[in-house]
Amino acid sequence: MATAVSSVMQYKMLIGGEWVDASSGQTYDSMNPYTGQTWAQMPDAQAEDVDRAVQAARKAVKDPAWRGMVPAQRGALLRRLGDLVAENAEYLGQIETRDNGKLIREMSAQCKAVPSYFYFYAGLADKIQGATIPLEKTSVFNYTLREPIGVVGIIIPWNSPLLLLSFSLAAALAAGNAVVVKPSEHASASTLEFAKLVEQAGFPPGVFNVVTGYGAVTGSAMASHPGIGKLSFTGGPETARKIAEQAALNLTPTLLELGGKSPNIVFPDANLQNAVNGTIAGIFAAGGQTCIAGSRLLLHEDIHDEFMERLVARTRDIRMGDPAAMESELGPLATTAQLAKVESFVESARAEGAELVYGGCRPDAPELAAGWFYMPTIFGGVRNDMYVAQEEVFGPVLGVLRFREEEEAVAMANDTRYGLAAGIWTDDIKRAHRLARDLDAGTVWINMYRALSYASPFGGYKGSGHGRELGVEAINEFTQVKSVWVELAETTPDPFVLRI
Ligand code: NAD
Repeated sequence: MATAVSSVMQYKMLIGGEWVDASSGQTYDSMNPYTGQTWAQMPDAQAEDVDRAVQAARKAVKDPAWRGMVPAQRGALLRRLGDLVAENAEYLGQIETRDNGKLIREMSAQCKAVPSYFYFYAGLADKIQGATIPLEKTSVFNYTLREPIGVVGIIIPWNSPLLLLSFSLAAALAAGNAVVVKPSEHASASTLEFAKLVEQAGFPPGVFNVVTGYGAVTGSAMASHPGIGKLSFTGGPETARKIAEQAALNLTPTLLELGGKSPNIVFPDANLQNAVNGTIAGIFAAGGQTCIAGSRLLLHEDIHDEFMERLVARTRDIRMGDPAAMESELGPLATTAQLAKVESFVESARAEGAELVYGGCRPDAPELAAGWFYMPTIFGGVRNDMYVAQEEVFGPVLGVLRFREEEEAVAMANDTRYGLAAGIWTDDIKRAHRLARDLDAGTVWINMYRALSYASPFGGYKGSGHGRELGVEAINEFTQVKSVWVELAETTPDPFVLRI
């Protein structure tokens, strides 16, 4: 629900089927990264608002309107929601671009893909099954029920709000949970616009609730709320640590989708032009503001110089501009803090002795001056122990490393605390599959990069998180298993012995 007051949109949050302000009446500003101006105001939810949302969700979980709904009907609601998102995808994409500054071609494509995530889990809603267990005890009938967890809390970042929300939400609703969502304070609007569609689709009140606010207050109140049965978090690793600590005090399980320092590894037998395009897609698409950014490029010595020439030539051609214009290829960073982080990251790379090959500063074009732009930046001569090779930048900064042997490439690729994704570029089929096994990463792309699907499980190894979203497997994340035992014999055995 939003109203325009002197051209600044005023949003409300959805709690228990009602559109409300924060109980304190406080709001925060949402800024447009291209203009640097406030374009909307959001309710600044406090712990009390979070508690109201969790209580509303708990009530919805027990309400026969949701609990008693047959799974096929849940599927029908999810399909209807997918249809509504499809009808409004262009608008939702525009809202996201205005809020986070990412390209309209990317945000619009993402919002157009979101319906398929709901259709996929709509189809799964009535296929969530338990099992009958063949025990040694022939007089006992044992079976399992796969049941919803209850209230699922979902905390998402600003970079791809609706897509990342759908990663958890579609499976959580298909499984019969109720949900409380907290979008990022930097990009809350699309989740509130989406909430209108959830309401329109006909989900019972309280099944889907949104609280908007800052991480340290609203997010923290969710992480520590004992009424939340599972917490799905997508964001940075430092935030994840705080959330996991708070959740652990209530023994609340978490699903964590975190960042990465993903490598693209290019061998001499690869199609180099495709590998250049894959490298560009990995680090400069979305301005590097993506968890799966391919921010390390590992080049075989034999093709290093030729590859760098092609890469720099393509990078030079990248069109920076208004993210709302279809022809733009690189937009601004989402926040001033992010811009400052990129600038200090580049300084640290220089100080460590990495060789600046391209970029390394803000653009000087006057038409970009108001926005939070940074040049696509390439560092050569990077060693894997440098900060630029180890830490996630979440900006358009690429570090290039050299290797000679396959084992050396694998060792370097794996030598970070992260393990979200990796790209392999080679025409040698044996090598490709060998590396796919050897790399510590939740997703491996061979001769491609930056592709996702609702049907394929997604998540991290090591410090990139735990648990899996997407695919059939994600249903397991949002359900719990109950084992039911039935005595079929007329008499009971020795009561003093465990029946084992
Ligand atoms: P962030 O960790 O700063 O914030 C993510 C969310 O957590 C926001 O909603 C924020 O308000 C909330 N939050 C912040 N502090 C909190 C606290 N103490 N308690 C509870 N909630 C809190 O991340 P960001 O800057 O919004 O996004 C960038 C990060 O997200 C990057 O590290 C990126 O790699 C990661 N990311 C991961 C994936 C993935 O699927 N693996 C996808 C996109 C982004």
